[in-house]
Amino acid sequence: MLSEGSWYDSFLSKYRSGISHEFLFYFNVRDLVDNYRYMDRYIYEEFIKKRNFGIVAFYDISRGLTFLDAGMEKEFNIITSNEASNLMNAMPSRLFPYIDRALKNTKMVLFIDHVEKIIPAGDIASMTLEERIALIWICEWSVSPKISSVGSCIMMLADNLADVSREILKSSYRIEPIFVGLPDESQRKEYIEYLLSDGSVKTEISADEFAKLSSGLSKKSIKDIKLKSEAEGIPISFEFIKEKKHSVLQKEYGDVLEFIYPEIGFEDIGGMDKAKEYLLKNVVYPIRKGDLRRVPMGILLCGPSGTGKTLLVYALAKASGFNCVKIDMSRILGQYVGESEKNFKKCLLGAQSQHPVIVFVDEIDQAFRRGDSGDSGVSRNIFSEFLQFTGDTSNRGKVIFIAATNRPDLMDPALKRAGRFDKKIPILLPDARERAEIFRIIINKYRFETDVEDFMVFAEQTENYTGAEIETVVRKAYELACEDDREGTVLTADIISEAIKRCRPSTQQVQFMTMLAIEECDDKDLLPDKYKSLLDERNMDDR
Ligand code: ADP
Repeated sequence: MLSEGSWYDSFLSKYRSGISHEFLFYFNVRDLVDNYRYMDRYIYEEFIKKRNFGIVAFYDISRGLTFLDAGMEKEFNIITSNEASNLMNAMPSRLFPYIDRALKNTKMVLFIDHVEKIIPAGDIASMTLEERIALIWICEWSVSPKISSVGSCIMMLADNLADVSREILKSSYRIEPIFVGLPDESQRKEYIEYLLSDGSVKTEISADEFAKLSSGLSKKSIKDIKLKSEAEGIPISFEFIKEKKHSVLQKEYGDVLEFIYPEIGFEDIGGMDKAKEYLLKNVVYPIRKGDLRRVPMGILLCGPSGTGKTLLVYALAKASGFNCVKIDMSRILGQYVGESEKNFKKCLLGAQSQHPVIVFVDEIDQAFRRGDSGDSGVSRNIFSEFLQFTGDTSNRGKVIFIAATNRPDLMDPALKRAGRFDKKIPILLPDARERAEIFRIIINKYRFETDVEDFMVFAEQTENYTGAEIETVVRKAYELACEDDREGTVLTADIISEAIKRCRPSTQQVQFMTMLAIEECDDKDLLPDKYKSLLDERNMDDR
């Protein structure tokens, strides 16, 4: 069975109740009908076959009009008195009048694929005459009582809703847009089991694992993975799927969405005890218990660069088992106006369809600055799209939106308003004990050899260093060890001390950003003890 709220249910109830007989399916439409006329099982078995449609036809601008079988083509030619038999590849203005006749005379399903190529988005005034004629036919069909009484159905398909002329969604017509999402984990599993049942490919992983790994993929892409494995004679493994998935998603969303496969856990992050504790208590444990209502919708991480905000997000993804997607806003904003809006919407849908998912935006202040007018920064539409996405309460428990910033003061206030970010967590400079931990963790991460057991001395020498700066020190130490390999590449105490001398922290900026993060913090419990008194002083000043 399809899960509740799926596109098929919403389509069927609208068709059945007579609300509409013309639909615009968008987003993951390649799973509905692909170029080889392979149709989604629900559309074919449940809808078309059960309802005895006399004609099932497909139209797109490059292939013209084609039919599911020869009998149907014959039927079409009878209805149109053979007048259209030479016009199957003609432009809409010549062919659509005949399709109109068929739709009104027999129970017919008409698929119009790549509808954005027929009636593209944009000003009506800039449409060609051909496009305008097609637009009129398409709109008129939606309000035709004749078509409705015959029971014909028109299904238009577009990958991206924003590419299609807005005219058709005006209320004077009755064309219903239907969002077709990507299959969820259980739908993928069902499909994978069906795909693998013929035993034509070998797998090194279970259907459950395959289903989990294939988040964000359409059924069509899953099928492609199977076909590639078959063609290349390579069994389906974790690596195989990861590689294929990467190339599919890259094609789909370009460099804007980055899909993260987190490998680090909370134990790989030094310090941040308060932040970790908050995330474990309010995100990880509730998720494990299935109490999704408690999970925050949005979290804002504030603090100087290099303090490990990104790391924390990835560790949270790993601990919660959620997927993780990073949106690179600078790439969206770098695109042409108009183009960027369309792509942004697609990216949000892409990110959302990975649910359960953590959607991460780094340096959010750079994308949504206070007081930015449309042209210098992000356009209003993108911003409102973003606000809508982050404020959508139906996403609670499915999408956790996390943003990071070192300049919360520059963020647009609308974004910071209560409700959008349930929590603002300050991520500040590590104290001495934390720095010692970070030294140890980073040396381990690179598998560097060291004869030092207690890093506290170095922690004392690195006051005001961020985690990223400690990483620089460790890498510098390795560099020094390699230059002078009398003792191999072991990081001795002398070498680490020398490296510290050579890498200075960028103190000024960091202190300023620390103050901003403390300013932003609205929950004293999340502040490390040494900063709590600062918040108290501030509150006193405010009085
Ligand atoms: P931010 O997102 O706050 O700018 P990052 O998470 O990108 O910082 O940190 C940069 C790098 O510094 C990380 O990849 C990691 O190697 C190191 N690092 C920073 N903070 C820590 C920490 N607390 N524990 C371990 N490594 C850290």
